[in-house]
Amino acid sequence: MTVVYLDNAATTPVDPRVVETMLECCGPSGDFANPSSVGHEPGRRARARVEQARAEVARVVGAAPEQVIWTSGATEADNLALFGAARFHRAKGRHLVTSRTEHPAVLDCCRQLEREGFEVTYLKPGPDGIVQPSQVEAALKPETILVSLMHVQNEIGVVQDVGAVGRLCRSRGVLLHVDAAQGAGKLPIDVERDCIDLLALTAHKVHGPKGVGALVLRREPRLGLVPMLFGGGQERGLRSGTIPTHQVAGMGRAFAIAADEMQADAERISALRLALYESIAALPNVELNGHPTQRAPGILSVTVDGVEGESRLHARADLAIASGSACASAHAEPSYVLRALGRSDRLAQSTLRLSLGRFTTREDVQYAASRIAVEVARLRSIAPVALR
Ligand SMILES: *Cc1c(COP(=O)(O)O)cnc(C)c1O
Repeated sequence: MTVVYLDNAATTPVDPRVVETMLECCGPSGDFANPSSVGHEPGRRARARVEQARAEVARVVGAAPEQVIWTSGATEADNLALFGAARFHRAKGRHLVTSRTEHPAVLDCCRQLEREGFEVTYLKPGPDGIVQPSQVEAALKPETILVSLMHVQNEIGVVQDVGAVGRLCRSRGVLLHVDAAQGAGKLPIDVERDCIDLLALTAHKVHGPKGVGALVLRREPRLGLVPMLFGGGQERGLRSGTIPTHQVAGMGRAFAIAADEMQADAERISALRLALYESIAALPNVELNGHPTQRAPGILSVTVDGVEGESRLHARADLAIASGSACASAHAEPSYVLRALGRSDRLAQSTLRLSLGRFTTREDVQYAASRIAVEVARLRSIAPVALR
């Protein structure tokens, strides 16, 4: 049976070129040594791998290599950014601003910070998923220390204007953290131009390995952060723990490839996404979620009214697609992201989230579109008349 993967987790396999780089860091003749052991040749070779990767990742986001701190992924980078900055700057103020559609890696840090005595303003985006810079401006208070706004929304794919928010924050002396897990390597983002103080990255959303990411810190003036992990003092004392050479080298290669192929990938994947959307939109009562043009190439979210209980559509063995994010879809709750855009519970639960990546083909999209059309017709034919 043909299986078409349009689920975020399944459309981002590790690129074979990344695998090759990672393997060069494994095995008895690989560059596997501890990159902190620079007293011997194998250690220096591993260190060179790590530093090359640091430069590759930095280049994609307009940073210098020394601004990159390795982490285990974007979740850890978000935690380090939010807890690290809030704890360091608490004497200056205890107010943070974020949006209701952030990833749980940001929202759950904010909830914990509230328990620790901070106050958080959660901005509601417009029905198109966009948070206006003017909303951020209106939320700033004298005691605001940090704004956290994501680059690309992982469920609906909208792109926030982080540059406008960055310039605003910079002019007010407030730090800006950006979760760019879904956007970096796919769309241009530049920590200098966009005035970003903290930027969270991950490898696995750009065909790198899972379990490695980075926090990019602004260059000057140096940012104070309280670490989350204490120990050997690696990464300027901000992230203790032995650096996983093969993981980091893989992330570097994934970002280098993403930078070289960004434009071609974005054009091809956007065209596939539009073709998929157009064929689904030809069905009655279909609505796109999120801004029609201010969006990332590979994420499509559509609400198909009358297909209540989207799980039945997902359950089809030959289509691997998701309703919410991987993290949220374990729960049967309607997506908080779609609820924040004003969708009813019922419509939020009648939503398909489709992801396309570097390896998605036109045939995949055509097959998925025809299977979705058949299934939607079938589910509508058995849905209560009021919902059709
Ligand atoms: C995937 C994702 C994360 C989590 O990244 P990990 O590397 O899996 O920890 C955080 N934020 C956003 C927006 C994501 O899409």
